[in-house]
Amino acid sequence: MTSSEMKLREDICVLAKSLFDRGYGCGSSGNISVMTDAGMIVSPTNTSMGRLDPARLSLVGRDGAHLSGDAPSKEAFLHLAMYQERPEMISVVHLHSTYSVAVSCLAEVDPEDVLPPVTAYYVMRVGRLPLVPYFPPGDRALAEAVRGKARHHHAMLLANHGPVVAGKSLESAVYAAEELEETAKLYLMLRGEKTRFLTQAQVADLCVPFPS
Ligand SMILES: [Zn+2]
Repeated sequence: MTSSEMKLREDICVLAKSLFDRGYGCGSSGNISVMTDAGMIVSPTNTSMGRLDPARLSLVGRDGAHLSGDAPSKEAFLHLAMYQERPEMISVVHLHSTYSVAVSCLAEVDPEDVLPPVTAYYVMRVGRLPLVPYFPPGDRALAEAVRGKARHHHAMLLANHGPVVAGKSLESAVYAAEELEETAKLYLMLRGEKTRFLTQAQVADLCVPFPS
């Protein structure tokens, strides 16, 4: 293992623990991956994000084959679907974070853009957020649905499940996932209140094509 891969593995564990410690995951929910030349490094199945071991992270080929480390998350195929459609993406974060999951269960949302433009940072880091229809855990049709949305979106919300967010770096993916969760929380806090969201012109004015 190269020193840069070891550093990457350590960074995954540090950021995963940070997410876990701040309540973005519970039990063994949530998974993080980074794509490298050797394959996809991803958190193992049945492991808390708060207690990942750099040496035991799974290495998975682009075809989904388990190459080394512990058995990969059962949701690794979601990450692979994103990478296959968006090869410029380096990292994917998938969470079962409470507020995003709550929003993913709302009956009346725009499936093409679930959350309104609450803040500029949400617009810049997440942008439009489509809703992926519900599929049972492990259903490969979910990967196809994710792949379909990934063509035009680096972030999406799985109905009654949680967000999938990709980035051009590990940090970028994590920060976008955090921004999404906090925005979901704000949105739920504001429901029922007269709210001034950003206007279309204000969103256009941000003019940020994609977070780097
Ligand atoms: Zn999940």
